[in-house]
Amino acid sequence: MKKEISNKFGTKAVHAGVKPDPATGAIMTPIYQTTTYVQRSPGDNLGYEYSRTQNPTRSALQESIAALENAKYGLCFGSGMAAIDAVIKLLSPGDEVIAGDDLYGGTYRIFTQVFAKYGIKFNFISLEDVSNIEKHITPNTKLIWIETPTNPMMNIIDIKGAVAIANKYKVMLGVDNTFATPYLQNPLDLGVDIVMHSATKYLSGHSDVVMGALATNNDQLAKDLAFIQKSCGAVCGPQDSFLVLRGIKTLHLRMQRHCENGEKVATYLAAHPKIGKVYWPGFESHPNHEVAKEQMTGFGGMISFVFKEDNQQQAFRVLERLKLFALAESLGGVESLSNHPATMTHGAVPKEERMKVGLLDSLIRLSVGIEDIEDLIKDLEQALA
Ligand SMILES: *Cc1c(COP(=O)(O)O)cnc(C)c1O
Repeated sequence: MKKEISNKFGTKAVHAGVKPDPATGAIMTPIYQTTTYVQRSPGDNLGYEYSRTQNPTRSALQESIAALENAKYGLCFGSGMAAIDAVIKLLSPGDEVIAGDDLYGGTYRIFTQVFAKYGIKFNFISLEDVSNIEKHITPNTKLIWIETPTNPMMNIIDIKGAVAIANKYKVMLGVDNTFATPYLQNPLDLGVDIVMHSATKYLSGHSDVVMGALATNNDQLAKDLAFIQKSCGAVCGPQDSFLVLRGIKTLHLRMQRHCENGEKVATYLAAHPKIGKVYWPGFESHPNHEVAKEQMTGFGGMISFVFKEDNQQQAFRVLERLKLFALAESLGGVESLSNHPATMTHGAVPKEERMKVGLLDSLIRLSVGIEDIEDLIKDLEQALA
């Protein structure tokens, strides 16, 4: 039985996909730690056969994520990379992909070092002006892959503009919505075919689980992706599904605070005499601020900045001195993190590619957490002194 829930975000975050356990009435979805399901007679089962194909805890989570993205279908995977892996497996040798030139390092790596050798061609282009896509489309282009905001340069890509081009040429369009989360941005509402999440980040929100997700409204795509999910088997386990389901219940509250703290940290950094440039889409001076205002309901808690001099040593010194902002890969958890993309998250991107997009040696990326803002600013102040 499906609960009647409104289409308001907070209510969906708490209730979508979750129903009282039919056996006991337990309000929290049980962790169905089982591989298999007993059948009365061959084929006569309750809709579950084997946990690679379906698991009730995973089903609840998939329904929850689908609801948050206003999607008909949600599919969860063992990591964000496993979700991207499933999308690329929709393609065949000879197919071409157009992707932004400022992508998560792991995405760049799976494209260039895993899938390129299977005969899929990847074209990395600037998407600051999406009309650039049209110049690179060929009859073999089968997928356009976009991240917005981008990681770590915080560029904003015009989703509606990309949808118009994708529709004109009948090319599939996927958006990695990890940074914005469905709380700030719903790409499917704008006509995108597939939304992807590293649920490791904001969706789970507590830095305790690695997971990926896809959402789509397209019946055929959902079928094909479910086939890949079951055939290739990069599924998430029931424990992890439970943790993400639990994290999602507070996604809207956490995001509100991430956005508030993000704005204050970005404003503080922009006024600091040692800092050259702060990358955050909430600034009016951000090149695609208007697009961000149009397609997002807030600007998030991810911020990058460089020093007046591009000096890696200076960046390292600040990173070593930060106390509350732990130096660690990943993002989107309740605790604030700092990161040196050039040597950490984006170590797989060649230096000349990095430099082209402004990913300098002194660039620091912050994932601003939900701590008290006074303490976060104090920490930055002492580290930058
Ligand atoms: C972390 C991340 C990924 C990869 O997700 P994993 O869960 O680490 O496999 C993909 N895209 C973006 C934008 C990310 O931040």
